[in-house]
Amino acid sequence: MCVILASNNKNKLREMAQILMPFGMEVISQRDAGADFEVEENGTTFRENAEIKAMAVYERLNMPVIADDSGLVVDALGGAPGVYSHRFAGENASDRDRSLKILSELENVPDDKRSARFICEICYIDESGEKHFFTGSCEGFIGIEERGENGFGYDPIFCYGDKTLAEMTDDEKNKISHRGNALRLFSKYLKEKN
Ligand code: IMP
Repeated sequence: MCVILASNNKNKLREMAQILMPFGMEVISQRDAGADFEVEENGTTFRENAEIKAMAVYERLNMPVIADDSGLVVDALGGAPGVYSHRFAGENASDRDRSLKILSELENVPDDKRSARFICEICYIDESGEKHFFTGSCEGFIGIEERGENGFGYDPIFCYGDKTLAEMTDDEKNKISHRGNALRLFSKYLKEKN
């Protein structure tokens, strides 16, 4: 089965392709499928944003599509950056700028108050236009400095056990990540349906 990803984010595409390959699914970016446009994410929840992205591409291509809206929730910051994870340090900021901003805002926060989680909401629109939602999370904490070179986004500051996600191999991250957990629910749904 082939599914279109309502995103042109190369990191998400790579991880989703790796996670879904063992289930016999191939993921194609919306651009490669002929829907080369950006969608404004103006929802107030992960679910709303995932739905907005999936709908925009489904309406253009009329084919099954999945969208991932994800982000980092930091308890000591009242749940920020949350749905604003991508825009947390301004539109033109880099992944590194965003991570450094979190570290600086948590500068005086003790270890036992640095809990955080990644959330991933998947919206799948099937061939008949019906929407299905799958949520995954990954519980961890924010470290005191960046560590590791792999992954993307906030991975270098997000600790799971004694490693940051950026110190893990792709396989290690995908086994425990919010995206991996949400996509495994998605593939279980497809398996049970067929
Ligand atoms: P969006 O889903 O396109 O709105 O972007 C989500 C943002 O959350 C990304 O730009 C990253 O900053 C962050 N994010 C989402 N998933 C991950 C992940 O697996 N690792 C690190 N950062 C992530």
